[in-house]
Amino acid sequence: MFQTDIEQKYKFVVENIKEVCYNISVAREKYRNDGENIRIMAVTKTVDPEIVNVAVKNGITLLGENRVQEYLSKKDKYLPEAEVHFIGRLQTNKIKYIINDVSLIQSVDSLKLAEAINKEAAKHDKTADILIEVNIGGETTKGGIDKDGIYELAEKIAVLPNVKVKGLMTIPPPGCDESLFDEMHGIYCELKSKKIENIEMDILSMGMSGDYELAVKHGSNLVRIGTKLFGARKYTEVI
Ligand SMILES: *Cc1c(COP(=O)(O)O)cnc(C)c1O
Repeated sequence: MFQTDIEQKYKFVVENIKEVCYNISVAREKYRNDGENIRIMAVTKTVDPEIVNVAVKNGITLLGENRVQEYLSKKDKYLPEAEVHFIGRLQTNKIKYIINDVSLIQSVDSLKLAEAINKEAAKHDKTADILIEVNIGGETTKGGIDKDGIYELAEKIAVLPNVKVKGLMTIPPPGCDESLFDEMHGIYCELKSKKIENIEMDILSMGMSGDYELAVKHGSNLVRIGTKLFGARKYTEVI
């Protein structure tokens, strides 16, 4: 990119961060009295690492990566203070490429995947933090465990020694009824109250560019924002 393009983009991203932070604080003020901190993740797919770093420099140090290959090509260019979560569909044979670099895998929706992560984590003598991805809208095109299967999956994952469940992640259908957000929060709270050994319910990752305020209203404490920070992506894709 030309220098002027970068400067423009820099300003654009900084303005967007301000706006998103402001909107979150308004929603938080209005709807939440739990005093919980709400983390903003910058979703980086298709965004040049130098632009991603604008977000990192301006306080959005948590990054969300969808594709292993793309992440590997970008990771060395990210500022050292960046923390990375994997949020995309993950093939078991690719776990080995990210296990040492990401601090959490948000998109675990099967025992098979959890077992493969467990195996890879054991090789590196570490515990991998994960979220269970829930398909709250029951959409056939999306990843995530059906809501009926969450409890059973959580219990099965809980016994894996090198994996630690830290919470839930979901992608509600675009424009869906608000009640789905509420339902998701209910599931999160219920699992939390069950106090399953080796399961911590600390993170509810819910909300994207189109619905983050709604998600904050309904108990999210981690919103994953791409478009609203970096602008429209260079190409569209199914997530
Ligand atoms: C792309 C993506 C996002 C961000 O989407 P935007 O609508 O651009 O904010 C969030 N979560 C996941 C899992 C994604 O793949």
